[in-house]
Amino acid sequence: VTCLEGHKVAIFGLARTGLEAARALIAGGAEVVLWDDSAPRAEEARRQGFPVDDLRGLDFGGLSALVLSPGVPLTHPAPHWTVERALAAGIEIIGDTELFFRERAHRAPGAAVVAITGTNGKSTTTALIGHLLRQAGRRVGVGGNIGTACLSLDDLSPDITYVLEMSSYQIDLTPTLNPSVGILLNVTPDHIDRHGTFENYAAVKARMVMEADRAVLAVDDDVTRVVAAQARESGRAVTEVSCLGSLDAGLFADGTRLVWRDGEGDGAVADLASVPALRGQHNAQNAAAAVAAVVALGVPMEEATRGLTSFPGLAHRMEEVARHGRIVFVNDSKATNADAASRSLSSFEHIHWIAGGRAKSGGIDSLEALFPRVARAYLIGEAAEAFAQTLAHANVPHEIAGDMEAAVRAAAENAEKDAAPGVVLLAPACASFDQFADFEARGDAFRRCVGALDGVALKPR
Ligand code: ADP
Repeated sequence: VTCLEGHKVAIFGLARTGLEAARALIAGGAEVVLWDDSAPRAEEARRQGFPVDDLRGLDFGGLSALVLSPGVPLTHPAPHWTVERALAAGIEIIGDTELFFRERAHRAPGAAVVAITGTNGKSTTTALIGHLLRQAGRRVGVGGNIGTACLSLDDLSPDITYVLEMSSYQIDLTPTLNPSVGILLNVTPDHIDRHGTFENYAAVKARMVMEADRAVLAVDDDVTRVVAAQARESGRAVTEVSCLGSLDAGLFADGTRLVWRDGEGDGAVADLASVPALRGQHNAQNAAAAVAAVVALGVPMEEATRGLTSFPGLAHRMEEVARHGRIVFVNDSKATNADAASRSLSSFEHIHWIAGGRAKSGGIDSLEALFPRVARAYLIGEAAEAFAQTLAHANVPHEIAGDMEAAVRAAAENAEKDAAPGVVLLAPACASFDQFADFEARGDAFRRCVGALDGVALKPR
């Protein structure tokens, strides 16, 4: 990226995106200095030949910008010291996504960018849009918060459509955010730790559509409904989608069918019933948003929906890992908060539910209406005791299993005894960090434990 050519830039946070930003800035003629509070990460960057130096000794006045890793707090719980130093010196604080948007403005303003945010469903929707565009014959670069860092995607070109997942943290660090199509899926409480209040969190997410040329909004919660009205008032081209009910205009789910309605009438454009990777009402929201975005890019509806039935889905999101007799085993390890877990639970009946981990605020209290779908719960991790209390209040059969292996074994045994076909579902409603490195490691552990059951064959990934 050449937008900071000849400038001196500090980069803090040396995970994947930080190192990619450093590489891109150096290639574009900037002078960079890198630092991370974690000694192993700083050491690894040094080993790769990057100029690593303790930023505490640096005069921030001599810098043009601080490139911050999206994991580092801007405001909450307390602003990171680099943020305070940068603010005091009056230099800008940006992320790798900002470098991407600036570079596009300079070098390839014709390159289409679809950016996706929301509390839940970002990765699924991002991957689905990439798949739909590919099936419609477009060249795509898919990345951002998922998979490939945006600065490692194929070089900016008007022939490529870029599909970027963006967390609220990344939006915060992208002042010139300007997607061709900006998607907001939903806004429910999560990550408030970082943004201080729910209002701040919602305002950050709202920028995704307020700064977009065209906006796609799922109007299924109070916040997104308000943002949709604001976007329309400000003159944005808005497509509304919904998984909850019909709309006067837009794309909505009627059961598993997606229905398009405009001034000229309405009609079903796709049916999701035969797509296991898009099971559940929440996935109807993701699918509707994805199709609407692809159409907003100028792809005719018929071509935009062509790839739906062949969408393979993503690992750890409603991933069917095995079927054994009447039991289905589903890995939704990515359901790391209560809202995501509610989507999982509402997609099945007779659920043997594996939940727990490091609790988020509110626990599973908000899931009570779904408890009748739970045959029995198997609790793991730090949250087990607290979840057991909630379940006991609601008279839901449950046990503290402790770890994944015990949970899977007990759940499979009990599901086997049920008269009705059932599902063994990992939908933890918790972060994974108490027992696992991340949600992927947790989902892999589930998969391994399912595979170790007598006579159960895992589906290949
Ligand atoms: P994100 O990238 O936003 O974390 P994912 O697509 O990885 O979203 O899905 C995370 C989890 O959230 C899924 O496992 C599923 O349980 C739930 N989920 C997916 N899409 C939605 C949605 N549109 N609304 C609510 N929950 C969802």
